[in-house]
Amino acid sequence: MRRISIFGATGSIGEQTIDLMRHCGGAQAFHTVALTGGRNVARLAEQARELRAEIAVTAYEDCLPALRAALAGSGIPAAAGEAALLEAADRPADWIMSAIVGAAGLAPGFRALRHGTTLALANKESLVTAGPLLLAEAARHGARILPVDSEHSAIFQALVGEDMAAVERIVLTASGGALRDWPLERLARATVAEALAHPNWSMGQRITIDSASMFNKALEVIETREYFGVAPEQVEVIVHPESIIHSMVGYRDGAIMAHLGVADMRHAIGYALNWPARSALPVARLDFTTLGSLTFRPADETRYPALRLAREVMAVRGLAGAAFNAAKEIALDHFIGGGIGFADMAGIVEETLDFLSGGGGLGNAPLSLDDVREMDRIARAKAAACAAGLTARRAG
Ligand code: NDP
Repeated sequence: MRRISIFGATGSIGEQTIDLMRHCGGAQAFHTVALTGGRNVARLAEQARELRAEIAVTAYEDCLPALRAALAGSGIPAAAGEAALLEAADRPADWIMSAIVGAAGLAPGFRALRHGTTLALANKESLVTAGPLLLAEAARHGARILPVDSEHSAIFQALVGEDMAAVERIVLTASGGALRDWPLERLARATVAEALAHPNWSMGQRITIDSASMFNKALEVIETREYFGVAPEQVEVIVHPESIIHSMVGYRDGAIMAHLGVADMRHAIGYALNWPARSALPVARLDFTTLGSLTFRPADETRYPALRLAREVMAVRGLAGAAFNAAKEIALDHFIGGGIGFADMAGIVEETLDFLSGGGGLGNAPLSLDDVREMDRIARAKAAACAAGLTARRAG
């Protein structure tokens, strides 16, 4: 029986992973090792009971009593906190889903690699903040990282049997998010609710807003550069509102391999779960006769400054990805909290990067996760100060 752990089980990706496991036989077909979540302990306990998990872990110590209570009588132990997440990552598993949102997802996934496991990586922040460290750790321990982001899964699939040396370009498609048709001058006034109305994909709250601002695509551009080892200029972004083509690889003979399908994350999750085989998945099939047309438009860097910033991050590399992601997370918190406007998010990230590039060690290659954590801490502090300044100016 395959041993499986899911980090971020209560989130959008976690739930869809469990849905696929259920489809493939659930507790009869898989041995569930660890399930982890954050504040939604009631759901975590339900999942742990259903899959008869070895252990359920919440990231937050103050949620432990509620998790224990929800698991009462099940015989499933509960644990909490960062150390418990790492302990869960140490438990032998054949396949681990890394689907915690944000920089918090890095450490457990990194830890799991030392056991030579297969890490299905949804947490894009891991590669953005610590790509070279993560890949080196996987290589050192014979572990495998499989992409789960739909674009990277698409690219991975379009590369099967091909020679990386023959790759000319990688084209990431972007839906453009909820605000893609808004006039530029209205964008700055977009509310959280408006940014959350994603036309194609059903995802967690944070990534949905990041889709509207294109910070999500910016993270994916950096992720592509790190995971596939291509040069920054080989990574292109194109807006494709229908989200049917999930990404493409262009080869030196001019051929383009595109991955098409309905917008359903269970395809990419299922591919990683069954890899290298392809198994039947409960996803809708494309009907070309009703599809209509597939359209494309350029990804305008004036409209989406996050994409321009991603290019700057790739040029610096080192710890710039960690700073970029941390500043983005803080800016997003402040947007969700109502203190700043939609367009202010990019301004905060840019100001943070500018500040840190002046002798802040941005270009230093990280030697360990501690270096990444330290840059994350510094960038958060700077971004929070920028956001507080903006909030105060808006209030005044
Ligand atoms: P969600 O917000 O839906 O879920 C996040 C999960 O992480 C939940 O289980 C949540 O727990 C847990 N969590 C939140 N904060 C912490 C923390 N500080 N420490 C530990 N656990 C925490 O996110 P998504 O499922 O949408 O996304 C997960 C990752 O996958 C992200 O990196 C995202 O960019 C990536 N991804 C997502 C896609 C999607 O379609 N959703 C597509 C491609 C990539 P709780 O809810 O219990 O508080």
